[in-house]
Amino acid sequence: MTSRSHAQELDRADPLGGARKRFDLPPGVVYLDGNSLGAAPAGVADALAGIHRQWRDHLIKGWTDDGWLTAPLRVGDRIGRLIGAAPGQTVTGDSTSVQWFNALTTAARLRPDRRIVLADTDAFPTDRYLTDSVARLLGLEVRAVPAGRFGAALAELGERVAVVAASPVDFRTGERLDLAEVTAAAHAAGAVTVWDLCHAAGALDISVDAAGVDLAVGCSYKFLSGGPGAPAYVYVAERHRAATDQPLTGWLSHAAPFDMAAGYRPAADMSRFRIGAPHMLSLTALDAALDAFDGLSMADVQAKNLALGAFFIACADAHLAGRGFDLVTPREGHRRGSQVTLSHPRAAALMDGLAAHGVIGDVRPPALLRFGFNSLYVSYTDIHRAVMALRLLTEPADA
Ligand SMILES: *Cc1c(COP(=O)(O)O)cnc(C)c1O
Repeated sequence: MTSRSHAQELDRADPLGGARKRFDLPPGVVYLDGNSLGAAPAGVADALAGIHRQWRDHLIKGWTDDGWLTAPLRVGDRIGRLIGAAPGQTVTGDSTSVQWFNALTTAARLRPDRRIVLADTDAFPTDRYLTDSVARLLGLEVRAVPAGRFGAALAELGERVAVVAASPVDFRTGERLDLAEVTAAAHAAGAVTVWDLCHAAGALDISVDAAGVDLAVGCSYKFLSGGPGAPAYVYVAERHRAATDQPLTGWLSHAAPFDMAAGYRPAADMSRFRIGAPHMLSLTALDAALDAFDGLSMADVQAKNLALGAFFIACADAHLAGRGFDLVTPREGHRRGSQVTLSHPRAAALMDGLAAHGVIGDVRPPALLRFGFNSLYVSYTDIHRAVMALRLLTEPADA
């Protein structure tokens, strides 16, 4: 079940196999780092030429005639479909870091009588740094615990928790946290949630609406393949919007930006969460990149992602036993995101060695080898090749 011919059989039966054509992958490369920077979708080059032509030929009129001004709302809704958000609640802009700052501050302002932010000890560094900064700014206290202990922490801190800040997938271990369950626990304590969807959007079948999520942010250059530095996005549940007071009150979040009024009046719609002029060049690349998801259901995408992970684990069990590897990611499909992390004392050297075999993953200190699976362009044969390369690289000296 872990042979190359079995991998080929799985590829032949794969309903998503055809999606690989929607990407421009370098020939011969096994790309297992799409959870860090997604591969280039095939339509991006033409789209970039197109926005250049609009700019060159239409000049300032592009803002209106080519729809640049409203593009963040339109593309936001396209991402909304992939994260289970009904239209009108998602908008693109800036980086995840900026959006995290904005969303967390907004969330804390929804609970002005509470002082605690419950955060994940193992959160992505930018989230941790910014959470601490927001706390300093607003006079809040950050209580960081491992995500698995959120329930106990909420029971202990109860009505003092303003915000629960979390991610559905641990970026190091790939462990999954249940969006609906944590959100419900936060709500039971009267807190609001801010989720970082960077490692979930485009990979997992989530629904922020169905889970009752309050606010969420994410980047679009990982599983969404929007390109390096592609604009991030923010989701704000419609039920909260009228009460929100986001801190970065740029002119494009104004109810009537082109009135150039002296006083601030927030937009009633999702423009309320815009800041400044949209990054049209990178937003156009992202818009084209999202075409790769056209006609695909996130249920199918998640199913293949988890199957690729299961196949990776099975191949590692069969071919890497006794070679110093430990599986860091949970084995059970429902507890995993779309990545598998192995630890090995020579992690950095092994990743260099893999590159020589045309296999790209990444290393997270101190000893973690991280492999991400984007089922739109990763095949079972790719997985098999990656594990067999690791086997070659760890061949015992006397063999
Ligand atoms: C990649 C990632 C980020 C990146 O933030 P940027 O501001 O877009 O650089 C933030 N949070 C998480 C969880 C990430 O995985």
